[in-house]
Amino acid sequence: MEKSAEGPTKKKVVAVVGGGLVGALNACYFAKRGFEVELFETREDIRQAKIVKGRSINLALSHRGREALKHVGMEEKITSQGIPMHARMIHSPSGKQSTIPYGKKGQYILSVDRANLNKQLLTEAETYPNTNLNFGHKLQDWSAETGLMTFVRSDGSEDQIQADLIVGCDGAFSAIRKQFTRRSRFNYSQTYIPHGYMELTMPPINGEFAMKPNYLHIWPRNTFMMIALPNLDKTFTCTLFMPFDDFEKITTGDEVVEFFQKYFSDTIPLIGLDALKRDYFRLPGLPMVSIKCSPYHIGDKCVLMGDAAHAVVPFYGQGMNAGFEDCIVFDEVMDQFNEDFSAVLPEYTRVRVPDDHAIADLAMYNYIEMRAHVNSTWFLFRKHVDNF
Ligand code: FAD
Repeated sequence: MEKSAEGPTKKKVVAVVGGGLVGALNACYFAKRGFEVELFETREDIRQAKIVKGRSINLALSHRGREALKHVGMEEKITSQGIPMHARMIHSPSGKQSTIPYGKKGQYILSVDRANLNKQLLTEAETYPNTNLNFGHKLQDWSAETGLMTFVRSDGSEDQIQADLIVGCDGAFSAIRKQFTRRSRFNYSQTYIPHGYMELTMPPINGEFAMKPNYLHIWPRNTFMMIALPNLDKTFTCTLFMPFDDFEKITTGDEVVEFFQKYFSDTIPLIGLDALKRDYFRLPGLPMVSIKCSPYHIGDKCVLMGDAAHAVVPFYGQGMNAGFEDCIVFDEVMDQFNEDFSAVLPEYTRVRVPDDHAIADLAMYNYIEMRAHVNSTWFLFRKHVDNF
């Protein structure tokens, strides 16, 4: 396919690279403005795939994310399939449970299914006649000067497209961002935390949730912790966050059980002994990275959004939410500068970098707060509506 900005179309071509959560939402934003949107995604269409590989099974959607969804008419569709979590449910080592609300009465965050959210956003993007979704397209190279991009298709063949604007939504290990790192005065930092994460499933009991569903359950254990978010199929996804060294110390099924008996004994009958012994070894602990960079743009040609611009550790529950907010902020700047990319892109960097960096810092801070301070009296006086 050869597509050029100088074709019969009047509107400019915007290439969104990455069809994950932020890329799919962004495609809707640009399409709504009437641009010719070409979305490119490495993976095959997840709506047709039997198994969708990726990170966490579910996510907490909060105010930021909802506002961004509302703008393209998607809020109700998504929230109607989410499970409200009004408070944290803290599980003490002895099995005692106590609640800490997220905010005022009636305020809550929502547990949503990642794959379903991604699928719905792709389907929404496709409803715009000026949007084209290209799956099985992996960005290999691109030019900041000309906007020419080269993709490798699943069958190994190449595809080239020239766009007026390239929007890098290709996640924490962004291929778009690689070009940025070759340029002068580009700031970049990447930090892997010593903890990894592992997901375990808590099945329903007699067709019902095994624990109270409208809570984000937390087992804070100082140097490590487990959390659990409810799913629509009445399961909970439990996520164990623990230093890699500790994950690696546990090498047999009996050691898993011993560990859980010591720290998370109330969950053993709920997850099930056999499942626990088996599922702990299904996958190793997975890494978590925090990435900060600046600027987010090159000239009037390219801009980074979502994890490509700011991957954050998940302890503030704001990675996707902040990525969704990127779309709304960009959209506002587009209004302000009459869609003139040469003015919009630097202004977007100017207004967005400090806020995204603040979220990255807060997430790092909550990394300690959730597993340790959440037990303290001091924590009870704090009011976080928007975080874990
Ligand atoms: P991604 O979701 O990574 O999507 C990037 C897309 O780009 C992918 O589809 C990928 O296949 C594609 N791609 C990559 N390279 C290329 C290429 N070269 N060419 C074409 N396509 C490419 N956030 C929250 O807000 N709330 C939560 O509760 C929450 N919980 C989390 C729990 C865990 C354990 C983790 C790890 C993260 C959590 N997050 C949460 C963060 C959230 O997952 C991310 O912020 C979010 O997925 C970012 O979306 P994205 O679209 O920017 O990137």
